[in-house]
Amino acid sequence: MKRREFLQGVGGALAAGTVLTACGSGEGTGNHGSDTSEGAPAVHTGKTWQWDMFTTWPPDFPGLGTGANHLADLIDRMSGGRLKVRVYGANERVAAGEVFGRVADGTAQMGHGAAYYWRDTVEAAQFFAAVPFGLTAQETNAWLFQGGGLELWQELYDDYGLIPNPAGNTGVQMGGWFNKAVESPADLQGLKMRIPALGGDVLERLGGTPISLPGGEIYTSLQTGKIDATEWVGPYNDLAFGLHEVAKYYYYPGFHEPGSTVECTINKKAFQGLPTDLQQILRSACYVANQDMLADFTARNNQALQTLKTEHSVELRRFPDAILGQMLRTAEEVVAELGDQDQHARRIYDSFRRFRTDVMAWHEIAERAYLNARSGEPS
Ligand code: CA
Repeated sequence: MKRREFLQGVGGALAAGTVLTACGSGEGTGNHGSDTSEGAPAVHTGKTWQWDMFTTWPPDFPGLGTGANHLADLIDRMSGGRLKVRVYGANERVAAGEVFGRVADGTAQMGHGAAYYWRDTVEAAQFFAAVPFGLTAQETNAWLFQGGGLELWQELYDDYGLIPNPAGNTGVQMGGWFNKAVESPADLQGLKMRIPALGGDVLERLGGTPISLPGGEIYTSLQTGKIDATEWVGPYNDLAFGLHEVAKYYYYPGFHEPGSTVECTINKKAFQGLPTDLQQILRSACYVANQDMLADFTARNNQALQTLKTEHSVELRRFPDAILGQMLRTAEEVVAELGDQDQHARRIYDSFRRFRTDVMAWHEIAERAYLNARSGEPS
């Protein structure tokens, strides 16, 4: 569904009186970027707000669902209980795929998910979730908060009456679980793999068959041979799903998701109805949650990797260089084509590419040189 159809859909819902607040698609022109803080003065009148947050995750799912719970808890505590947020997992109120639309139309005031889930509505959103061979978590945060990325993201979502915020990051993901060894690019031919978004586009161009499956269906699909391989997140989440029980090899690195951003979307009208201090609390809570989730993933991935290796004897394999090289070249094409979609996408792509080029030069002599030195390898 493209933007026009999407907005017509929202209009229809409004006409039917099924939503509480307008989407504001025609407002805010010339008022893009972060300038959305038109709230009332911060006078404490004892007034409280009860909001709903729809998420794309199974309720309380480790890292992601619990990350949404943590964000709601932060907002409650930082606001002294003036703004309370009820969290709903996928399918508790709406399906995962409806979160973006139902926050845009005001059914809920907040959403928690990942921007690449909305690619059929707003294709360029994928730049703000995961780009194959794109930015790491540290680099993503630098681009978003100091490199102009967040303003471009806000501008992109403004057409839908939504304010996006980074609210978590998984760090580098794993390449995934395979029941067929992949030793050369030829082994990708006909490979049926659960892999979302741009990573799936790359696989498809190399002869594989990307398959979309919600998290809850991955285990059985792998077990029954409906798919040959799957990616999910990393050791922490993959262990929780028990994927080691139904796959032979665990490949790395997750070139397709080098630092996936979790988003918190806020309905713009609802946001504008808050006092300025609560608006800032929302932003700050997302900022804290963004850092906390990365720490959670990093710490727990370490533990879960040890468990997978020592208790479950999982066979780890690095993708061969020939495969990674093909993936890299193909990803460059796929991402450049995404940047050619429209004017918004072009501006985002240009900013993203420029930042990536610059930060690669810096991290070559910083992160990479240090990590190599630490492990005793030549830089
Ligand atoms: Ca993934």
